[in-house]
Amino acid sequence: MTSTLFLSPHPDDLVYSAFSALVEQSGTGTAVIFFNVSRFTKYGLLPKYFVTTMRTLEERIVLARLRIKSSFLWMEDSSSRSHPISMQNTATKLNRFRGTFRYILCPLGISGHPDHLALRSMAIDYWRLRCGGRPTICFYEDLPYAAKVKEIDVELERCVRELSPSCVDLSTRYQPMSIDQLKKKIAFSKLYLTQNDQSELLKKHAQIIGKKCGRAYAERYVCSL
Ligand SMILES: [Zn+2]
Repeated sequence: MTSTLFLSPHPDDLVYSAFSALVEQSGTGTAVIFFNVSRFTKYGLLPKYFVTTMRTLEERIVLARLRIKSSFLWMEDSSSRSHPISMQNTATKLNRFRGTFRYILCPLGISGHPDHLALRSMAIDYWRLRCGGRPTICFYEDLPYAAKVKEIDVELERCVRELSPSCVDLSTRYQPMSIDQLKKKIAFSKLYLTQNDQSELLKKHAQIIGKKCGRAYAERYVCSL
């Protein structure tokens, strides 16, 4: 079945950054969460087994409510790992996901979080080598980081330049959101109880992006043709 493959560095990234796509793909989308082994909480770093269980559970509940299938790769995130990421092992894990995907979504890499950049690079390889570049690859703006960047368009251009050797013909897509859609996104973002409340930053960014396309709120993606 033709559908969408959502690639997420951490539990919470998809709801923060690609909520409109999740809603659109409800019932057909598949999400793969890479770095769900974590110590990171809003209270600081806590024991790995406890935090991993809680964060994985939060993501399972949220994605189930959005009717998106979820799979976890159980890799250690930057708060818990002591060794560099093994790109080879991860590529092997990712290659298990076969299917005819029409869209592949992954982070744009705004602000340069190492887990986000590693996943972006693996996603591009998967898209090119495994899928022959056929699906549309869409990069979502990494939130909440994108909301803290002063000149977001300059940063977006920088990311697009970084991608240009492997992805040519990228274009920007705006996905307008109504106030009700934004409220739903904020409500879902609050279900990540172990993490900081990002409501204000999510709303602020949705407004900034909305202005650029003449709507109240929006999300933005950079996609191949
Ligand atoms: Zn993240």
